This record gives sequence, structure tokens and C-alpha cells, in this order.
Amino acid sequence: MNYNVNEKGYYGDFGGAYIPEMLYPNVEELRQNYIKVMQEPDFQKEFKELLKEYVGRPTPLYYAKRFSEKYGTKVYLKREDLCHTGAHKVNNTIGQILMAKRLGKNRIIAETGAGQHGVATATVCALMGLECIVYMGAIDIKRQAPNVARMKMLGATVVSAESGSKTLKDATNEAIRDWINNPTDTHYIIGSVVGPHPYPDMVARFQSVISEEVKKQLLEKEGRENPDYVVACVGGGSNAAGIFYHYLDKPEVGIIAVEAAGKGIHSGESAATSALGKEGIIHGSKTLLMQTDDGQITEPYSISAGLDYPGVGPMHAHLFRSGRGEFISVTDADAMQAGLDLCKLEGIIPAIESSHALAIFEDRKFRKDDVVVVNLSGRGDKDLNTYIEYFKLA
Ligand SMILES: *Cc1c(COP(=O)(O)O)cnc(C)c1O
Repeated sequence: MNYNVNEKGYYGDFGGAYIPEMLYPNVEELRQNYIKVMQEPDFQKEFKELLKEYVGRPTPLYYAKRFSEKYGTKVYLKREDLCHTGAHKVNNTIGQILMAKRLGKNRIIAETGAGQHGVATATVCALMGLECIVYMGAIDIKRQAPNVARMKMLGATVVSAESGSKTLKDATNEAIRDWINNPTDTHYIIGSVVGPHPYPDMVARFQSVISEEVKKQLLEKEGRENPDYVVACVGGGSNAAGIFYHYLDKPEVGIIAVEAAGKGIHSGESAATSALGKEGIIHGSKTLLMQTDDGQITEPYSISAGLDYPGVGPMHAHLFRSGRGEFISVTDADAMQAGLDLCKLEGIIPAIESSHALAIFEDRKFRKDDVVVVNLSGRGDKDLNTYIEYFKLA
């Protein structure tokens, strides 16, 4: 079976480009050019150089000795938390800003929920001296004040979306409206492997540097390129796509995707899309989506802002339906405990998103000589207030 995107932008039954007529020229321009541009030697050179000099890649593949001892298997952590700005998201925004420049765009728009993607976008716009407009729901602006401040310090304009529930979905609508009105000079940077084709494939390719590095690093450390398992948390699915990418067609490598069960899969407060989702269309692609019987998108919930999304990218919907991926969901409580455990065992404070991936080891048993690589997608600094409140640390 093929786990990569086909000519028409589909992963099995999922993907495509379900967009309003008015957006067609913008998306089509990108679709016709993205692979050609990415393959230009000049593009590759600039992308790799920035990943090295600015982002700090390659990120270490760290053997977590005490964590491994606790769970009786060999666990490596891919340290995306050490990327500039504190998470993997910058790999994609660097790629897309270079793409925008090659396509002659000098104005960048983005939408953001928790603000992490907005910060990663504002960062690369500052780096390149491009105008940056970030759409954000009015409620999210209140909830995520430090990230709003970061974006402003980086020179971005943050525009409040005042319609609907005043959250991510409404910010996305505003960004799409902007793009329709500014088709020639503007590039829309999407932050995960979601959106109409070619976005999921383009973002997966930019993030695939993660598994490209793992292959080399594991060869050095274990004498083989392939681990027995790769594990990652899935919000939209970009960090997961990055660490799965070069292993998709290696059946000997198990792929484990971890979703947020929130307060429990059946509590009505969760973001466990594979368990609860049905086929539907969100952000221009057909995928699995949490929705009511009459097709209204269900409000998702997770303690971690980055996993609080009602869908998954089409690649992951396909990995789920085809059985290639094993999908596990983890509650807030288990994720928080796993995050605190990593602090004490390894001296690493993980993002709460990443803590979901770490939490599977309590129940999902591995063999003693299995090599399990967990993508540590981000650092926990941004989550300090949540950790403080949850564990009553102050
Ligand atoms: C945004 C974010 C995620 C979730 O996004 P994906 O596209 O699913 O990777 C996970 N971890 C961290 C640290 C994030 O900031």
C-alpha cells in the first residue's frame, strides 16, 4: 500500500482540496510549483543552512537511560524541544517562508489557536523582513497573552477574529477571506499537515527532516537505521508526519500515533479523533473529524492547546483506516503525570503535547530489546502555568 499522497492529493480515501472557487488560483499556483521549488538546489541549500544555523539542527537523538530502565525497553527521544522557538513547528515555517519568497510573495498570513504557530510564523517573517498578519480568535487572544506578546515583539500584526466561537475555526475563516482578497502578493502559512492539497504533503516534506536525521543517528548508535517503533503525539499531525515520514513504507517499523483523550474518550471533553471521528471536511480536506450526527463540528478539548483540534491530517486518517498506524489516546491526567516523570527521570521538562506520547509506556508494553523513538515535539516552558496549577506547585 502507498502511504504518501497521490497525484490528486489523496492519502487513500482522505485529502483532496475542497475549497471555495475564489481560492482556486492561489492553491493551484502552490500545487503546480511546490515540488519543483523544493527540489531546486538553491532552495535546498538555503533551507538546510537555516535549519542548521538558525534552528540548531540536527537535534540530538538522546538515549533516555533512566526512562528506559523504568519501562524495560530502549527509549530514544528526538529532541525537537531544542529547536529555536522550542518546538518542531519552525521546521515548517522556515520551509514555507522560503517557498513564499520563491513564489514572489511579500506578505504572510497565518491563523493560530494557542499561538505557537503564530509565534513560529512571526519568527521567520522577522528573519526575512516580510510583513506578517496573524489571525487569532478573540477568546484565544485573552487565553494566550504571552504568545500574543511574543508575536507583537517579533513585529507581527495580530488580528482578532470576533465571529462565531471566537477561536481557531473563526481565525481560519478570516485568514481564508484575507487570502481570497489578496491572491497575488500573499502566502498563507498553514501550521500542520492539514488544509487543502498540497499543504499536507508540503508540510510533511518540510518536517521529514526529523526522520531523515533519526535514520542517520540511529545507524550511529544502534547500527541500524530503523527503530522498532516511532511514537508521536498528533494534533493536526505535523510532528508525527515528520518522524513517521521515512518509515511509512518500512513495515518492520511500527508507527504509533497518540491522541488526546482529554477527560476520557467518552466524557464529551476530548480530542481523540481516530476513536470518535467520522469522515468529513475541515479546512479544505476530507479527513476524520469529530462531529455531531448532522455534521456539525464538535468542540474539542485537551489540557494541551496543541492537541485541542477536532480533526487529524489526511495522512493520519489513512494510517488509521488502513491499519498501518496504531492509535492510542491518553488522558490529561496520564499525560501530566508522564510529563512530571520525565522531569524527574531525565531532567527534561516536556511540552504537555509531547507528554501524551511519553504516557503510553504505562500500558503499552514493549520488548526489552525494542528500540522505541519518541518525538519530543516541544519544551514545557510555555506550559509552566498549566503544570503549576495542575500539581499545585506554587
Ligand atoms: C503544535 C504542537 C503540537 C501539535 O501539532 P502537530 O501538527 O500535531 O505536530 C505538538 N507538540 C507541540 C510542542 C506543539 O507546539
